[in-house]
Amino acid sequence: MKKFLAIIICKLTKAICKYFGRGSSFPGQLALKICPDILSRIVLPDDIVAVTGSNGKTSTVEMIHSVIEKAGKSVAYNYEGSNQIEGVTTLILSNCSLGGKFRKDVLLIEADERYAKYIFSYIRPRYYVINNLYRDQMTRNGHPEFVLEDIAKSIHEGMTLVLNTDDPLVSSLSKQFKNEVVWFGIDDNEYVSETCESVYDDGYYCPVCKKKMVYEYRHFAHVGKYECKSCGFRRHKPDYVISDIDLKKGFITVNRSFKIDLAFHTIFNAYNILAAYAASNLLGIDPDVIVSALNDYLIANGRIKQFKINEEIPGTLLISKHENTISYNRNLQYVSSMDEDVTLLMIIDDISRKYFTSDTSWLWDISFEYLKSQNIRKIVIAGKYISDLAVRLEYAGIDMGRVVTYLKTKDAVAYLSEHTEGKLFALTCFSDEGKLLKEVTKE
Ligand SMILES: [Zn+2]
Repeated sequence: MKKFLAIIICKLTKAICKYFGRGSSFPGQLALKICPDILSRIVLPDDIVAVTGSNGKTSTVEMIHSVIEKAGKSVAYNYEGSNQIEGVTTLILSNCSLGGKFRKDVLLIEADERYAKYIFSYIRPRYYVINNLYRDQMTRNGHPEFVLEDIAKSIHEGMTLVLNTDDPLVSSLSKQFKNEVVWFGIDDNEYVSETCESVYDDGYYCPVCKKKMVYEYRHFAHVGKYECKSCGFRRHKPDYVISDIDLKKGFITVNRSFKIDLAFHTIFNAYNILAAYAASNLLGIDPDVIVSALNDYLIANGRIKQFKINEEIPGTLLISKHENTISYNRNLQYVSSMDEDVTLLMIIDDISRKYFTSDTSWLWDISFEYLKSQNIRKIVIAGKYISDLAVRLEYAGIDMGRVVTYLKTKDAVAYLSEHTEGKLFALTCFSDEGKLLKEVTKE
Protein backbone atom coordinates (compact mmCIF):
# COMPACT_ATOMS: atom_id res chain seq x y z
CA MET A 1 0.00 0.00 0.00
CA LYS A 2 2.82 2.39 0.92
CA LYS A 3 4.49 1.57 -2.39
CA PHE A 4 1.35 2.32 -4.38
CA LEU A 5 0.85 5.60 -2.48
CA ALA A 6 4.48 6.66 -3.00
CA ILE A 7 4.25 5.98 -6.75
CA ILE A 8 0.97 7.79 -7.24
CA ILE A 9 2.01 10.81 -5.13
CA CYS A 10 5.29 11.02 -7.06
CA LYS A 11 3.53 10.92 -10.43
CA LEU A 12 0.98 13.55 -9.36
CA THR A 13 3.47 15.99 -7.82
CA LYS A 14 5.73 15.59 -10.82
CA ALA A 15 2.88 16.65 -13.09
CA ILE A 16 2.18 19.65 -10.83
CA CYS A 17 5.88 20.60 -10.63
CA LYS A 18 6.13 20.35 -14.40
CA TYR A 19 3.13 22.63 -14.81
CA PHE A 20 4.77 25.28 -12.62
CA GLY A 21 8.17 24.75 -14.24
CA ARG A 22 9.74 23.47 -11.02
CA GLY A 23 12.62 21.03 -10.61
CA SER A 24 12.26 17.30 -10.44
CA SER A 25 13.68 16.33 -7.06
CA PHE A 26 10.68 17.30 -4.88
CA PRO A 27 8.34 14.46 -6.06
CA GLY A 28 11.04 11.88 -5.30
CA GLN A 29 11.71 13.48 -1.94
CA LEU A 30 8.02 13.11 -1.06
CA ALA A 31 7.91 9.49 -2.24
CA LEU A 32 10.95 8.66 -0.10
CA LYS A 33 9.18 10.19 2.93
CA ILE A 34 6.17 7.94 2.36
CA CYS A 35 8.18 4.82 1.59
CA PRO A 36 11.93 5.13 2.36
CA ASP A 37 12.87 1.84 0.63
CA ILE A 38 10.64 2.47 -2.41
CA LEU A 39 13.52 2.00 -4.86
CA SER A 40 14.16 -1.56 -3.72
CA ARG A 41 10.48 -2.40 -4.28
CA ILE A 42 10.42 -1.49 -7.98
CA VAL A 43 10.94 -4.15 -10.64
CA LEU A 44 13.78 -2.73 -12.71
CA PRO A 45 15.15 -3.85 -16.09
CA ASP A 46 18.38 -5.88 -16.36
CA ASP A 47 20.02 -3.11 -18.32
CA ILE A 48 20.83 -0.34 -15.90
CA VAL A 49 23.71 1.98 -16.79
CA ALA A 50 25.09 4.58 -14.39
CA VAL A 51 27.61 7.34 -15.01
CA THR A 52 29.54 9.28 -12.39
CA GLY A 53 32.73 11.37 -12.13
CA SER A 54 33.67 15.02 -11.60
CA ASN A 55 33.24 16.32 -15.15
CA GLY A 56 31.22 15.41 -18.22
CA LYS A 57 28.50 13.28 -16.60
CA THR A 58 25.62 15.07 -18.28
CA SER A 59 26.99 15.01 -21.81
CA THR A 60 28.09 11.37 -21.48
CA VAL A 61 24.62 10.34 -20.32
CA GLU A 62 22.97 12.37 -23.08
CA MET A 63 25.12 10.66 -25.69
CA ILE A 64 24.38 7.16 -24.34
CA HIS A 65 20.69 8.11 -24.33
CA SER A 66 20.68 9.07 -27.99
CA VAL A 67 22.58 5.92 -28.98
CA ILE A 68 20.10 3.68 -27.15
CA GLU A 69 17.17 5.43 -28.81
CA LYS A 70 18.78 5.11 -32.22
CA ALA A 71 19.22 1.40 -31.56
CA GLY A 72 15.44 1.18 -31.18
CA LYS A 73 15.25 0.55 -27.43
CA SER A 74 13.26 2.58 -24.94
CA VAL A 75 15.21 4.40 -22.25
CA ALA A 76 14.63 6.84 -19.39
CA TYR A 77 17.30 9.04 -17.85
CA ASN A 78 17.55 11.92 -15.40
CA TYR A 79 18.22 15.40 -16.68
CA GLU A 80 20.88 17.74 -15.40
CA GLY A 81 20.43 18.83 -11.83
CA SER A 82 18.51 15.79 -10.63
CA ASN A 83 21.40 13.41 -10.07
CA GLN A 84 20.93 12.91 -6.33
CA ILE A 85 18.71 10.25 -4.76
CA GLU A 86 15.51 12.35 -4.86
CA GLY A 87 15.90 13.11 -8.58
CA VAL A 88 16.66 9.48 -9.39
CA THR A 89 13.60 8.40 -7.39
CA THR A 90 11.44 10.80 -9.40
CA LEU A 91 12.92 9.41 -12.61
CA ILE A 92 12.20 5.80 -11.69
CA LEU A 93 8.74 6.23 -10.21
CA SER A 94 7.50 8.44 -13.02
CA ASN A 95 8.53 5.74 -15.51
CA CYS A 96 6.94 2.79 -13.75
CA SER A 97 3.44 1.31 -13.61
CA LEU A 98 1.25 1.77 -10.55
CA GLY A 99 2.13 -1.82 -9.68
CA GLY A 100 5.81 -0.84 -9.54
CA LYS A 101 7.22 -2.20 -12.78
CA PHE A 102 9.69 -0.01 -14.71
CA ARG A 103 8.38 0.42 -18.24
CA LYS A 104 11.49 1.10 -20.34
CA ASP A 105 14.12 -1.30 -21.70
CA VAL A 106 17.01 0.61 -20.18
CA LEU A 107 17.38 2.73 -17.07
CA LEU A 108 20.16 5.28 -17.47
CA ILE A 109 21.34 7.22 -14.41
CA GLU A 110 23.59 10.23 -14.06
CA ALA A 111 24.75 9.86 -10.47
CA ASP A 112 26.25 12.60 -8.35
CA GLU A 113 29.66 11.33 -7.23
CA ARG A 114 28.90 12.03 -3.57
CA TYR A 115 25.33 10.69 -3.57
CA ALA A 116 25.89 7.54 -5.65
CA LYS A 117 26.42 5.58 -2.42
CA TYR A 118 22.81 6.31 -1.41
CA ILE A 119 21.32 5.71 -4.85
CA PHE A 120 23.11 2.38 -5.34
CA SER A 121 22.24 0.99 -1.94
CA TYR A 122 18.86 0.27 -3.60
CA ILE A 123 19.60 0.03 -7.30
CA ARG A 124 22.40 -2.05 -8.77
CA PRO A 125 23.57 -0.82 -12.18
CA ARG A 126 24.76 -3.54 -14.49
CA TYR A 127 27.37 -1.16 -15.94
CA TYR A 128 28.87 1.55 -13.78
CA VAL A 129 30.91 4.11 -15.73
CA ILE A 130 33.38 6.17 -13.68
CA ASN A 131 34.98 8.74 -15.94
CA ASN A 132 37.27 10.99 -13.89
CA LEU A 133 38.06 12.56 -10.54
CA TYR A 134 39.18 16.16 -10.44
CA ARG A 135 39.21 18.94 -7.91
CA ASP A 136 35.65 20.21 -8.11
CA GLN A 137 33.38 22.21 -5.79
CA MET A 138 35.86 21.98 -2.96
CA THR A 139 33.58 23.56 -0.37
CA ARG A 140 31.26 20.60 -0.90
CA ASN A 141 33.62 17.86 -2.03
CA GLY A 142 36.94 18.48 -0.32
CA HIS A 143 39.66 16.56 -2.08
CA PRO A 144 39.33 14.06 -5.00
CA GLU A 145 40.53 11.22 -2.74
CA PHE A 146 37.72 12.01 -0.35
CA VAL A 147 35.25 11.74 -3.25
CA LEU A 148 36.93 8.47 -4.27
CA GLU A 149 36.08 7.01 -0.85
CA ASP A 150 32.44 7.98 -1.39
CA ILE A 151 32.38 6.40 -4.84
CA ALA A 152 33.89 3.22 -3.38
CA LYS A 153 30.90 3.01 -1.03
CA SER A 154 28.58 2.96 -4.06
CA ILE A 155 30.20 -0.15 -5.60
CA HIS A 156 28.58 -3.53 -4.96
CA GLU A 157 29.09 -7.09 -6.06
CA GLY A 158 27.84 -7.92 -9.54
CA MET A 159 28.28 -4.47 -11.08
CA THR A 160 30.61 -4.34 -14.08
CA LEU A 161 32.87 -1.33 -13.57
CA VAL A 162 33.65 0.70 -16.68
CA LEU A 163 36.74 2.65 -15.66
CA ASN A 164 38.95 5.31 -17.18
CA THR A 165 42.31 3.57 -17.13
CA ASP A 166 44.18 6.86 -17.64
CA ASP A 167 42.96 8.37 -14.36
CA PRO A 168 44.90 6.65 -11.56
CA LEU A 169 42.37 7.66 -8.90
CA VAL A 170 39.53 6.06 -10.85
CA SER A 171 41.49 2.98 -11.88
CA SER A 172 42.67 2.36 -8.30
CA LEU A 173 39.09 1.22 -7.59
CA SER A 174 39.99 -2.02 -9.38
CA LYS A 175 42.46 -2.74 -6.57
CA GLN A 176 39.75 -2.42 -3.93
CA PHE A 177 37.09 -4.56 -5.58
CA LYS A 178 36.89 -7.93 -7.29
CA ASN A 179 34.22 -6.74 -9.76
CA GLU A 180 34.63 -7.32 -13.43
CA VAL A 181 36.29 -4.25 -15.01
CA VAL A 182 36.06 -2.92 -18.56
CA TRP A 183 38.72 -0.30 -19.29
CA PHE A 184 38.70 2.73 -21.56
CA GLY A 185 41.51 5.14 -22.33
CA ILE A 186 43.41 7.22 -24.84
CA ASP A 187 46.71 5.98 -26.26
CA ASP A 188 49.90 7.96 -26.71
CA ASN A 189 49.53 10.75 -29.29
CA GLU A 190 51.08 14.01 -30.43
CA TYR A 191 49.34 16.09 -27.74
CA VAL A 192 50.76 14.38 -24.65
CA SER A 193 53.31 16.02 -22.37
CA GLU A 194 55.98 14.50 -20.17
CA THR A 195 55.42 16.74 -17.19
CA CYS A 196 52.43 17.93 -15.21
CA GLU A 197 51.45 21.31 -16.60
CA SER A 198 48.97 22.28 -13.93
CA VAL A 199 49.67 24.26 -10.75
CA TYR A 200 49.26 21.16 -8.55
CA ASP A 201 49.72 17.44 -9.23
CA ASP A 202 47.08 14.98 -8.04
CA GLY A 203 49.10 12.19 -9.69
CA TYR A 204 52.25 12.68 -7.64
CA TYR A 205 51.54 9.85 -5.22
CA CYS A 206 50.29 6.36 -5.99
CA PRO A 207 46.67 6.15 -4.82
CA VAL A 208 47.26 2.55 -3.72
CA CYS A 209 50.49 2.63 -1.67
CA LYS A 210 51.11 6.41 -1.47
CA LYS A 211 54.65 6.17 -2.85
CA LYS A 212 55.82 8.36 -5.72
CA MET A 213 54.39 7.52 -9.13
CA VAL A 214 56.10 7.92 -12.52
CA TYR A 215 54.50 8.91 -15.80
CA GLU A 216 55.50 7.92 -19.29
CA TYR A 217 53.21 10.67 -20.61
CA ARG A 218 50.25 12.77 -19.53
CA HIS A 219 47.19 13.84 -21.49
CA PHE A 220 46.60 16.56 -18.88
CA ALA A 221 46.89 16.96 -15.08
CA HIS A 222 47.12 13.47 -13.48
CA VAL A 223 45.58 11.70 -16.47
CA GLY A 224 47.97 9.64 -18.60
CA LYS A 225 50.20 6.56 -18.54
CA TYR A 226 51.46 6.07 -14.99
CA GLU A 227 53.21 3.40 -13.01
CA CYS A 228 54.13 2.92 -9.37
CA LYS A 229 57.49 1.16 -9.13
CA SER A 230 56.81 0.41 -5.50
CA CYS A 231 53.56 -1.60 -5.61
CA GLY A 232 53.22 -2.27 -9.34
CA PHE A 233 49.99 -0.30 -9.77
CA ARG A 234 49.87 0.90 -13.36
CA ARG A 235 47.67 1.94 -16.26
CA HIS A 236 45.78 -1.10 -17.50
CA LYS A 237 45.58 -1.79 -21.23
CA PRO A 238 42.23 -0.37 -22.40
CA ASP A 239 39.47 -2.50 -23.95
CA TYR A 240 38.03 0.61 -25.57
CA VAL A 241 40.75 2.87 -26.85
CA ILE A 242 41.12 6.09 -28.78
CA SER A 243 43.90 4.93 -31.02
CA ASP A 244 44.02 8.11 -33.07
CA ILE A 245 43.04 11.68 -32.23
CA ASP A 246 43.24 14.86 -34.31
CA LEU A 247 42.33 17.97 -32.35
CA LYS A 248 42.90 20.29 -35.30
CA LYS A 249 40.54 18.51 -37.70
CA GLY A 250 38.40 17.33 -34.80
CA PHE A 251 37.97 13.58 -34.87
CA ILE A 252 38.88 10.45 -32.93
CA THR A 253 39.23 6.82 -33.97
CA VAL A 254 37.93 4.23 -31.53
CA ASN A 255 39.46 0.74 -31.48
CA ARG A 256 41.39 1.51 -34.69
CA SER A 257 38.24 1.32 -36.82
CA PHE A 258 35.49 3.73 -35.86
CA LYS A 259 35.85 7.42 -36.66
CA ILE A 260 33.78 9.89 -34.65
CA ASP A 261 33.76 13.69 -34.98
CA LEU A 262 34.44 15.93 -31.99
CA ALA A 263 31.96 18.70 -31.23
CA PHE A 264 34.68 20.41 -29.19
CA HIS A 265 38.21 19.80 -30.17
CA THR A 266 39.34 18.84 -26.70
CA ILE A 267 40.62 15.72 -25.07
CA PHE A 268 37.86 16.04 -22.42
CA ASN A 269 35.19 15.76 -25.09
CA ALA A 270 37.05 12.72 -26.43
CA TYR A 271 36.88 10.96 -23.05
CA ASN A 272 33.12 11.55 -22.76
CA ILE A 273 32.52 10.19 -26.25
CA LEU A 274 34.70 7.16 -25.54
CA ALA A 275 32.86 6.44 -22.27
CA ALA A 276 29.53 6.70 -24.11
CA TYR A 277 30.82 4.41 -26.85
CA ALA A 278 31.98 1.78 -24.33
CA ALA A 279 28.72 1.80 -22.34
CA SER A 280 26.60 1.57 -25.50
CA ASN A 281 28.65 -1.28 -26.92
CA LEU A 282 28.43 -3.18 -23.61
CA LEU A 283 24.64 -2.96 -23.98
CA GLY A 284 25.07 -4.96 -27.18
CA ILE A 285 24.62 -2.07 -29.60
CA ASP A 286 26.40 -2.42 -32.93
CA PRO A 287 29.43 -0.12 -33.42
CA ASP A 288 28.06 1.31 -36.67
CA VAL A 289 24.83 2.36 -34.94
CA ILE A 290 26.85 3.91 -32.09
CA VAL A 291 29.10 5.88 -34.44
CA SER A 292 26.21 7.22 -36.47
CA ALA A 293 24.18 8.15 -33.35
CA LEU A 294 27.16 9.88 -31.74
CA ASN A 295 27.96 11.84 -34.88
CA ASP A 296 24.32 12.97 -35.14
CA TYR A 297 24.23 13.90 -31.47
CA LEU A 298 27.45 15.90 -31.69
CA ILE A 299 26.23 17.90 -34.68
CA ALA A 300 22.97 18.77 -32.92
CA ASN A 301 24.39 19.50 -29.48
CA GLY A 302 27.60 21.40 -29.89
CA ARG A 303 27.35 23.36 -26.69
CA ILE A 304 29.44 26.36 -27.57
CA LYS A 305 27.23 29.42 -27.31
CA GLN A 306 27.65 32.34 -29.65
CA PHE A 307 26.53 35.87 -28.85
CA LYS A 308 26.83 39.43 -30.18
CA ILE A 309 27.45 42.73 -28.42
CA ASN A 310 25.47 45.61 -29.97
CA GLU A 311 24.55 43.32 -32.87
CA GLU A 312 28.06 43.73 -34.25
CA ILE A 313 30.80 42.22 -32.08
CA PRO A 314 30.59 38.44 -32.10
CA GLY A 315 31.69 36.49 -29.05
CA THR A 316 31.89 32.90 -27.90
CA LEU A 317 30.87 31.73 -24.45
CA LEU A 318 32.93 28.88 -23.06
CA ILE A 319 31.35 27.47 -19.92
CA SER A 320 33.99 27.21 -17.21
CA LYS A 321 32.71 25.75 -13.98
CA HIS A 322 33.73 27.76 -10.94
CA GLU A 323 35.58 25.67 -8.35
CA ASN A 324 36.64 23.29 -11.10
CA THR A 325 40.24 23.62 -12.24
CA ILE A 326 40.10 21.24 -15.19
CA SER A 327 37.11 23.02 -16.66
CA TYR A 328 38.87 26.41 -16.51
CA ASN A 329 42.24 25.09 -17.63
CA ARG A 330 40.89 23.52 -20.78
CA ASN A 331 39.33 26.82 -21.88
CA LEU A 332 42.34 28.93 -20.89
CA GLN A 333 44.58 26.57 -22.80
CA TYR A 334 42.24 26.72 -25.79
CA VAL A 335 42.09 30.53 -26.07
CA SER A 336 45.79 31.02 -25.38
CA SER A 337 46.85 28.54 -28.04
CA MET A 338 44.89 30.23 -30.83
CA ASP A 339 46.72 31.70 -33.80
CA GLU A 340 44.73 34.94 -33.58
CA ASP A 341 44.44 37.79 -31.07
CA VAL A 342 41.93 37.31 -28.28
CA THR A 343 40.03 39.51 -25.85
CA LEU A 344 38.84 37.57 -22.84
CA LEU A 345 35.95 38.34 -20.50
CA MET A 346 35.79 36.43 -17.20
CA ILE A 347 32.87 36.77 -14.79
CA ILE A 348 33.00 35.49 -11.21
CA ASP A 349 29.99 36.83 -9.33
CA ASP A 350 28.18 33.86 -7.77
CA ILE A 351 30.54 30.99 -7.18
CA SER A 352 27.80 28.36 -7.12
CA ARG A 353 24.16 28.31 -8.13
CA LYS A 354 23.47 25.55 -5.60
CA TYR A 355 24.88 26.98 -2.39
CA PHE A 356 26.49 30.12 -1.03
CA THR A 357 30.23 30.24 -0.65
CA SER A 358 32.68 33.09 -0.84
CA ASP A 359 35.69 30.81 -0.85
CA THR A 360 38.02 31.70 -3.72
CA SER A 361 40.96 29.44 -2.85
CA TRP A 362 40.22 27.42 -6.01
CA LEU A 363 41.44 30.34 -8.12
CA TRP A 364 44.94 29.41 -6.99
CA ASP A 365 44.61 25.91 -8.47
CA ILE A 366 43.83 27.23 -11.96
CA SER A 367 46.65 27.74 -14.46
CA PHE A 368 45.96 31.41 -15.28
CA GLU A 369 49.61 31.45 -16.40
CA TYR A 370 48.29 30.38 -19.81
CA LEU A 371 47.06 33.96 -20.24
CA LYS A 372 50.63 35.25 -20.45
CA SER A 373 50.44 34.17 -24.09
CA GLN A 374 51.04 37.11 -26.44
CA ASN A 375 47.78 36.56 -28.32
CA ILE A 376 45.74 37.47 -25.22
CA ARG A 377 45.43 41.20 -25.88
CA LYS A 378 42.97 42.14 -23.18
CA ILE A 379 41.46 40.53 -20.11
CA VAL A 380 38.25 42.06 -18.81
CA ILE A 381 37.05 40.73 -15.48
CA ALA A 382 33.69 41.33 -13.83
CA GLY A 383 31.70 40.35 -10.73
CA LYS A 384 31.95 40.43 -6.93
CA TYR A 385 35.27 38.59 -6.91
CA ILE A 386 37.27 40.84 -9.29
CA SER A 387 39.77 41.72 -6.59
CA ASP A 388 40.48 38.05 -5.80
CA LEU A 389 40.82 37.29 -9.48
CA ALA A 390 43.00 40.33 -10.18
CA VAL A 391 45.41 39.32 -7.40
CA ARG A 392 45.58 35.81 -8.84
CA LEU A 393 46.28 37.17 -12.34
CA GLU A 394 49.03 39.40 -11.00
CA TYR A 395 50.66 36.44 -9.24
CA ALA A 396 50.40 34.48 -12.49
CA GLY A 397 52.73 37.08 -13.98
CA ILE A 398 50.20 38.69 -16.28
CA ASP A 399 50.87 42.18 -17.52
CA MET A 400 48.22 44.03 -15.48
CA GLY A 401 48.19 46.79 -18.09
CA ARG A 402 46.08 44.37 -20.14
CA VAL A 403 43.59 43.73 -17.32
CA VAL A 404 40.43 45.81 -16.88
CA THR A 405 38.05 45.28 -13.94
CA TYR A 406 34.33 46.03 -13.58
CA LEU A 407 32.03 45.13 -10.72
CA LYS A 408 29.02 44.92 -13.02
CA THR A 409 28.89 42.69 -16.09
CA LYS A 410 26.86 45.41 -17.83
CA ASP A 411 29.75 47.87 -17.58
CA ALA A 412 32.24 45.25 -18.75
CA VAL A 413 30.09 44.58 -21.81
CA ALA A 414 29.84 48.32 -22.53
CA TYR A 415 33.65 48.53 -22.38
CA LEU A 416 33.98 45.53 -24.71
CA SER A 417 31.65 47.12 -27.24
CA GLU A 418 34.34 49.77 -27.79
CA HIS A 419 37.58 47.98 -27.00
CA THR A 420 37.45 44.37 -28.16
CA GLU A 421 40.66 43.40 -29.96
CA GLY A 422 40.66 40.24 -32.06
CA LYS A 423 38.29 37.41 -31.20
CA LEU A 424 36.11 37.78 -28.12
CA PHE A 425 35.67 34.91 -25.65
CA ALA A 426 33.73 34.89 -22.41
CA LEU A 427 34.56 32.40 -19.67
CA THR A 428 32.07 31.89 -16.92
CA CYS A 429 30.01 29.34 -14.99
CA PHE A 430 26.32 28.37 -15.22
CA SER A 431 25.81 30.46 -12.07
CA ASP A 432 26.88 33.63 -13.90
CA GLU A 433 26.18 33.07 -17.60
CA GLY A 434 22.72 34.65 -17.28
CA LYS A 435 24.33 37.96 -16.27
CA LEU A 436 26.21 38.02 -19.55
CA LEU A 437 23.39 36.74 -21.74
CA LYS A 438 21.14 39.50 -20.37
CA GLU A 439 23.50 42.13 -21.82
CA VAL A 440 24.14 40.58 -25.23
CA THR A 441 22.18 39.05 -28.09
CA LYS A 442 22.21 35.28 -28.16
CA GLU A 443 22.86 33.78 -31.56
ZN1 LIG B 1 51.92 2.09 -5.39
